[in-house]
Amino acid sequence: MNFKLPVERMREFNFEGGIREILAQADEMARAGRSVLHLEIGRPDLDSPECAKRAAIKAIESGDVHYTDMSGTPELRAEVAAKFKRDAGMNVNPEREIVITGGAVEALASVFLTVLNPGDEVVVPAPYFPVYDDLIKLAGGVIHSVRCKIENGFRPDPADIERAINPRTRLIMINSPNNPTGAASTREELEAIAALAQSHDLLMLSDECYEKFAYDEKYPHISIASLPGMKERTFTVSAASKTFSMTGWRVGWLVMPAETKKFIMKCHQGICTCANSFAQAGVAEALRSAWPDVERMITEYKKRRDLMIDMLSKMDGIETPKPNGAFYAFPRIAGLGLPSQEFCSRLLSETGVSTVPGQPFGIEDGYMRLTYCRPQSEIKEALNRMGDFVSRLPR
Ligand code: PLP
Repeated sequence: MNFKLPVERMREFNFEGGIREILAQADEMARAGRSVLHLEIGRPDLDSPECAKRAAIKAIESGDVHYTDMSGTPELRAEVAAKFKRDAGMNVNPEREIVITGGAVEALASVFLTVLNPGDEVVVPAPYFPVYDDLIKLAGGVIHSVRCKIENGFRPDPADIERAINPRTRLIMINSPNNPTGAASTREELEAIAALAQSHDLLMLSDECYEKFAYDEKYPHISIASLPGMKERTFTVSAASKTFSMTGWRVGWLVMPAETKKFIMKCHQGICTCANSFAQAGVAEALRSAWPDVERMITEYKKRRDLMIDMLSKMDGIETPKPNGAFYAFPRIAGLGLPSQEFCSRLLSETGVSTVPGQPFGIEDGYMRLTYCRPQSEIKEALNRMGDFVSRLPR
């Protein structure tokens, strides 16, 4: 039997842009007894909050093991609405404007599949999370990337976004703080992007997965949906994954204009039915009581960021803007004289430090991504090895 796989529309897919392949290579080296340090994948090392675990265990023990309401338990939707009120001053209706999803990616997929017609364009600041590209293609859309400059701390310039808008544009997408650069937009920049969405009558999609990890007072997290005139055209995606170090629980949420929910639900029900019942109970408890845990995570990540940036900035040929949020650094390494793919591959095979080149994030050669969601001792050891490797490169 010839299955003729993959089908046409999946041929160009490159889920995660090769990050998992690098992880597989790193894991294989570790199995062979090599000392490997993982700075490639954004999988936090910190444990999920104890209160969330207790609530999930209690839910299982009390028989909360069946389908929930398709759009999420009323308890969790109420907690998500309360969070939006607290953090963004927004009144979000838990019945009509919230869907609980299987992580943020399912929310993103549901939006693209619901709003894009074949050939519709999505304006996306680059570098970007590689999954966007694949999901937009899966939905029949086209990514129109807007290159963010290192000189601007990788923050999207609203003027560049405006230049990308054309009659095929359906959606503007932002991700602040950003994966892979850690860039967080200012209020003025968000206001300018919001004005573009309104003047061109476009939908907005805001991926706020790293909302809690905004480290500098100058760049506080702001939900673009909370700006005047934006709630009615904005889809906001976030998740427990990064916020509470609960990546494996697979719970996210989507806040949307009320009239779109019935269409989003067709997609969400078809793909996922509902998010996991007892994981939802754990996340509801985290949203109620795990904020002290999150505060500790923020303090720890900030220390790790400072350590990583300090060590990177001492390496010749590497230029590193200080990320304002998330848990990634995205240095320019063009000065090292090696293509970034080769640099990362040799860094892994020769020193055991696993990182990813920048191209999978939708930009040209010359950059790499390192995550600092690892313990400080590992970051220090990894960057010592990398510094040594860099100093031995011929110039
Ligand atoms: N959005 C961004 C920007 C991410 O970096 C990630 C994961 O790395 C996701 C979405 C996926 O989140 P989840 O694990 O909740 O699906």
